[in-house]
Amino acid sequence: MSDDNKFEFELPYNSPVLPVRLELEDDLKFRCHRGVSCWNKCCSHADVTLAPYDIIRLKDRLGMDTSEFLKKHTVPFQLDAHGVPGLKLRTDDDAACLFMQEEGCSVYTDRPTACRYYPSGVLSMKAVDEATDEMHFLLVKEDHCKGHEEDQMQTIAEYRKDQGVEEYDDLNREWYQIILKKKSTGPAIGKPSEMSLQMFFMASYDMDRFRRFVMSDAFIKMYDLTDEEYEQLEKDDIALMKFGFRLMKQVFFGELTIKEREGAWEKRVEERREILEYRRQAEIAEHQRKQEEARKAALESGSESEGTDH
Ligand code: SF4
Ligand code: SF4
Repeated sequence: MSDDNKFEFELPYNSPVLPVRLELEDDLKFRCHRGVSCWNKCCSHADVTLAPYDIIRLKDRLGMDTSEFLKKHTVPFQLDAHGVPGLKLRTDDDAACLFMQEEGCSVYTDRPTACRYYPSGVLSMKAVDEATDEMHFLLVKEDHCKGHEEDQMQTIAEYRKDQGVEEYDDLNREWYQIILKKKSTGPAIGKPSEMSLQMFFMASYDMDRFRRFVMSDAFIKMYDLTDEEYEQLEKDDIALMKFGFRLMKQVFFGELTIKEREGAWEKRVEERREILEYRRQAEIAEHQRKQEEARKAALESGSESEGTDH
């Protein structure tokens, strides 16, 4: 299977070790606890990719709006060759996670998906001839991680449940699917426009800015949502995140997931035409004004030189 047909959520430790593929029912011999000799080792070389629900949980935990959270706690990177934007948790200069404290993770109950999975990871794959994706799992055994020497045995399914990953995967799954579809259809639909990449960033990560966009007059005039839907989007981050997934499908793949108001598109084109015509007229008027000024200046300097030429 080519790389275009899979999306791997990176492990939180930038590892040179090749991961092993696992399924839900496979065994995992592992336990992490405060008594391990490697305590915090993984978080001191953190490489944590963030998904939309991770950001909602963390910004709520820290009592920030998303724009502030993104500025203080994330760094951008590209999720694919077409420049689809991704975010990672910011670290200090030695690559240690800013949330790491001596006693452990300071945001533990709201830690991101990748941290919950470690030392496993998630791999979303879609066969060319299949309509839906499949989820598989990865295990990476690194020398520094002594949790593998502990006696606790569980299946991957049990580990996911214990780490609270299921809720995260359920809520982020549609987003993984969008990235996967984007990767596998990328060359066919071409490079995404700058506007669609900005939309992806806002709807995936900057939920508060996305909310202002959805509540704007221009958006309300364009999309046919009920008052109840708008009320929900105004106060419910999860509903807004899911709405963002629908809008991304519309923008990236042309799927009609959100109904547009009757004639809204034509009206927008007409308004745009009026604005362009107004700009054109203003440019012509400015050009004529400059020409007139230049003509007057030339006449004045001509008459001055006539008057002094003896
Ligand atoms: S968020 Fe917590 S668990 Fe994840 S890398 Fe940072 S300190 Fe470690
Ligand atoms: S056992 Fe592994 S996951 Fe736990 S602290 Fe050590 S390195 Fe991190």
